[in-house]
Formats: sequence, structure tokens, C-alpha cells
Amino acid sequence: MEFSVFFNKKKEKFYFKIHLNSNQTIMRQKIVAGNWKMNLTKEEAQSLTSEIVGINNDELGTNQQDVKLILCPPFIHISTIKSLFKSTKNIYLGAQNIASQDKGAYTGEISAEMLSSYQVEYVIIGHSERRQYFEETNQEIAQKIDLTLSKNMLPIFCCGETLELRKKGNHIDFIKNQISESLFHLSNSDFEKVVIAYEPIWAIGTGKTASSQQAQEMHAEIRKHIASKFGQQIADQTSILYGGSCKPNNAKEIFACPDVDGGLIGGAALKSRDFVEIAKSF
Ligand code: PEP
Repeated sequence: MEFSVFFNKKKEKFYFKIHLNSNQTIMRQKIVAGNWKMNLTKEEAQSLTSEIVGINNDELGTNQQDVKLILCPPFIHISTIKSLFKSTKNIYLGAQNIASQDKGAYTGEISAEMLSSYQVEYVIIGHSERRQYFEETNQEIAQKIDLTLSKNMLPIFCCGETLELRKKGNHIDFIKNQISESLFHLSNSDFEKVVIAYEPIWAIGTGKTASSQQAQEMHAEIRKHIASKFGQQIADQTSILYGGSCKPNNAKEIFACPDVDGGLIGGAALKSRDFVEIAKSF
């Protein structure tokens, strides 16, 4: 059995992964991350955070302690909500985006160094809304991944296909290419810090969820692709989240798939009860 512990800049324990031999069960980090997108005032963000912290502390029993919750508010709420985490151990802070430049004359952008100075731990990178509305390319996303890692934060890398690509049968190649172009330049030790979120675009915010078979097929393909570059052991350790209209009433079935390690949640992350129910669905 191998056991890896990673440390952040301040030498606090950051996360761990356990890898068992091939004839034993592989334990991967379970994660439920909430992407709040461009929603909530300061007061609403405070209430939502306090409710999530409260319900989490009361209800995520000992058998759920291994689930990480990551809250990804708009940048402006980051320091406000961080202060509400108190000593809660399984809740982490994430950002929804990061600049692709280091620093300088880029009005309105937020750098990796700035996020890191607010103790941000995760950064969502390459969300389909950023690819679609802000024309982010796989190459720009690769730069964002590098900057995130350079400041000891962990990327949540999003990939996902349109319905059109799926209908043409090109969805698997499309996702593999997104992953290759944005992540395959990384060293093994950097890749180990990446969380993948598979989010079919046709399921995001539409109420249409991928079936558990569709999710499992894609997650298995993604893991195979990772193994082809970084080896089976790293592929087996990588947390791959599903995103796209994941709700309390469908999370159990999706999370039961062997290659699904949790969810990236949009709409349902704005309701404290729903978000924690999803985290209880493993
Ligand atoms: C998302 O935007 O990452 C997402 C999964 O949204 P929703 O859950 O609302 O489909």
C-alpha cells in the first residue's frame, strides 16, 4: 500500500491519497465542489456559507469525514466566506478562475499570487462558460494551470463536449484532446495535484443529467487517457468529478459509478441543504 501526503506552503497537511495494490480497492479523494458562478450578494454568501458549515458539522458523520467540500464563490466574497469556515476541517476555499498572466496591466484580472495570498486552495480552470463566453483556449488554460500550481494551489480542470459533438460520436476524442493540450505538459508530480471535472456542456444548468452509464463511460475513458501519459498508478489516484445538473435526487446513482469521485455542482450549490445532501450521497 502506498500513502502520499502533500503539504502546502505553510507546511499544513493539504491532502492525501491512498493507493492500494491492484487486487484491492482503490481509495480516491471524494470531493463535492460548489461553483457559485456570478450569484449572491455579500449577505447571501455569508448566510449560505454559515448554513453549509452548520449542516456539515451536524450531519456529515464519521463515515463521511473523507469527503472534501470546496466552496467556490465569486472573487469578491473570498475573504468574507473564508472567515466563516472556522475550524471546520473538511471545507476548502476555491476560486472560479484565474488570470493567464502573472501580473501587470491587465485591468480587472485576478492573479494566482493574489488568490494564494487569500489562502485560496483550489481554482476552477477551463469551465465551459469561460471557454464559451471568454473564448479561452486549451493553450490559455494550460498557462492558468501552471500559474495555479506555481502558487501551491490545486487546479480543478474542467472538460466537456457539446451535444453536437456527442451526436457525431466525437465526444471522446474531443475530451482527450482538451486534456492533452492543457495538462500533458505537466510533470507527474504536478499532475498528481490536478482534479478533473467532466462536465458535458449539454447537461450544465439544463436539468438534463448524463445517465450514470454515460458518466461512467467518459470517466473511464478519461482515466485511461491519463494512464497513457502518466501511468496507471497516477490515473488510479486522480479524482474525476462529474458536473451537469447534479442534484440530491441523482447524485447517489452517479457517485456510485466506479470512476466517479464526486461532483462539481452549480445550481444546487446555492442551496445549503441540497449541497450537503449531495455530499452525503457517496
Ligand atoms: C457547473 O456549472 O459547473 C455546473 C455543473 O452547473 P449545474 O450543476 O447548474 O448544471
